[in-house]
Amino acid sequence: MDKTPPPLIPGTLYLVATPIGNLEDITLRALRVLRECDVVAAEDTRRTGQLLKHFEISKPLLSYFQFNEAKRSEEILERLKRGEKVALVTDAGTPGISDPGERVVRAAVAAGQRVEAVPGPCALVAALTASGLPTDEFHFIGFLPHKSGQRRKQLEALKSFAGTLALYESPYRIEKLLGELNEVFPDRTLVLARELTKKFEEFLRGTPAELLALVAKRSLKGEFVVLVSGEVAKVAEDGGESPAGEVVSN
Ligand code: SAM
Repeated sequence: MDKTPPPLIPGTLYLVATPIGNLEDITLRALRVLRECDVVAAEDTRRTGQLLKHFEISKPLLSYFQFNEAKRSEEILERLKRGEKVALVTDAGTPGISDPGERVVRAAVAAGQRVEAVPGPCALVAALTASGLPTDEFHFIGFLPHKSGQRRKQLEALKSFAGTLALYESPYRIEKLLGELNEVFPDRTLVLARELTKKFEEFLRGTPAELLALVAKRSLKGEFVVLVSGEVAKVAEDGGESPAGEVVSN
């Protein structure tokens, strides 16, 4: 392991992962990059400003979300071309995973600029690894489209996928999603990973119907990653290895 951190490289876009709830999850490298960069490009400057303040970092902030799509990346690219070191952060987690960071990275790569990942928290990885579902093969869907027909079509297309499915969902649509999963994947085991790394973190495990019954009794708030056991994992359960009976939480 290299003990001397190298200086930041001019003209590089650093993708800095930030906590998804627990501020202790920031990495030493993330803090150094945020301290040493020329500018921090943020999805929400107010939110990132609070994060920087917490870690006593004072840096110019640049919003890449308040303009139209083309303009969002334009200023970042200009700065990179001038040799600036730009740290890109999103509201939480790893930039580029289901957030506007992806577009900025694509524009930077297309413009021939250097892009470097500063890995750290990611809701997908935290949920998947603690879910107890197979991690060797998984399909990350992110957010489903808003339109019901398109959502249904996308889920149907994944019916025969053998690995674990992973989705992001807002608290406003979690019940709708459970209903859809109940129709398309009634026999599978679901894991709802709620409020990861936060005070009320919990993992709820059960069939879609069992989780729907739970939601009817107790409204579920907060942020969610929803995992669906794959076709093969379902077969293993049918064989009695890991029976899904009632909602299990921890
Ligand atoms: N880039 C982020 C990442 O690395 O996880 C994800 C950004 S995406 C806009 C936000 C979604 O991630 C939320 O709607 C939720 O599905 C999931 N998420 C983020 N933080 C979470 C948390 N603490 N617990 C559960 N899910 C979370």
